[in-house]
Amino acid sequence: MMKKTVKLTFVTIILTLLLTVCMSAPAWATAGPYQAHAAAYFAGLGWTDYAADGAALYAPGTYPVSFRFGLNGQPEGTTGTIQYQVKPFGQGWGGICENGQPAIAPENAASMEAVRIFFNGTLGDYFDIYYSVRVGGQWCEWVKNGEIAGAPDTSTYIEGIKISILLKGEVPPATSVIGGGIDPNRPMIALTFDDGPNGSNTPRILNRLEQVGGRATFFVLGNLVPGREYLLQRMVADGCEIGAHTWNHETLTKLTPDGVASTLNRTCDTIQGACGVRPVSMRPPGGGYNASVLSTVGSLGLSAYYWSIDTRDWEHKNAAKTIDHVLSNVRDGDIVLMHDIWTPTADACDVLIPELANRGYQLVTVSELAAYRAGGAVPGQIYYKFR
Ligand code: ZN
Repeated sequence: MMKKTVKLTFVTIILTLLLTVCMSAPAWATAGPYQAHAAAYFAGLGWTDYAADGAALYAPGTYPVSFRFGLNGQPEGTTGTIQYQVKPFGQGWGGICENGQPAIAPENAASMEAVRIFFNGTLGDYFDIYYSVRVGGQWCEWVKNGEIAGAPDTSTYIEGIKISILLKGEVPPATSVIGGGIDPNRPMIALTFDDGPNGSNTPRILNRLEQVGGRATFFVLGNLVPGREYLLQRMVADGCEIGAHTWNHETLTKLTPDGVASTLNRTCDTIQGACGVRPVSMRPPGGGYNASVLSTVGSLGLSAYYWSIDTRDWEHKNAAKTIDHVLSNVRDGDIVLMHDIWTPTADACDVLIPELANRGYQLVTVSELAAYRAGGAVPGQIYYKFR
């Protein structure tokens, strides 16, 4: 019995991998045999994991004080590695570092004005290293091969970074879902995950989002946050949004206004304590709300989000059904309801997230969707979709 389960799990993993490879990332991301990745040390958060080639690395409410860059799968016959240097705020350029070394000791805790990244050896004969920094809430144009990213001596500082290796002569897309550069003229949807965080399935979904430069919204339960603060910190670093789902999945229509305020405030306080960012969005458990609930929600500065696509993943726990339901119904402006506590949902996301990106959907947060499609969400309002 045990053996059979292990075998079946193995087969599932192989099938998932095959599916993922077939329905893979945008062409430019896989055009090179070779990928770069970046990690940042954010003030107050510490080092992030390495983010995938092309994925944005930024954390609302804080800023990076050091970077590390590395490479995956260096082609045979090439020599050299990735090198880089940064200019800390108000100081001169730091020394040249390479291949995973911290660009500067993070204990300096200074923001950074500029960064340069380049190859040495023969790598530069075959590949370009592109990078873009986020300054003043905007992603700057890509620069490459040792050009300066950022604006030294202008009192601005770097808020985030993304890097990507391309074959010599290839050009990164001018507009891309990668890294917050949202194009309002292209379709966008908000994937939302309720009832987490979950130590095993939430990181799988975050990994998959990271691979396509996508983001999602996680409506978390406050009581599950203690011990999983690192997951909320990663969500923030990945550009995802964290909303409140209540402390322990209370049905809000059965609570007094004080009870509604209490469970939401306790949840928001805990989220803010864990990752430094206070939620601006919430989702009522079971979708249960009325005018009184929304009035209290509004008084707390929160906007409420229902959904336009209900996968019912919690009920059937069947990855294929979740995939099919989303792909056969999805339209521009949709809000998709899923639950990141179930393994079949994480299995479904392994296929869904790259396929939605392949179909041209920008995967954005609910607040981003509201901002780009409705000029922003209003506290106390509930939104089902944006189109
Ligand atoms: Zn729920």
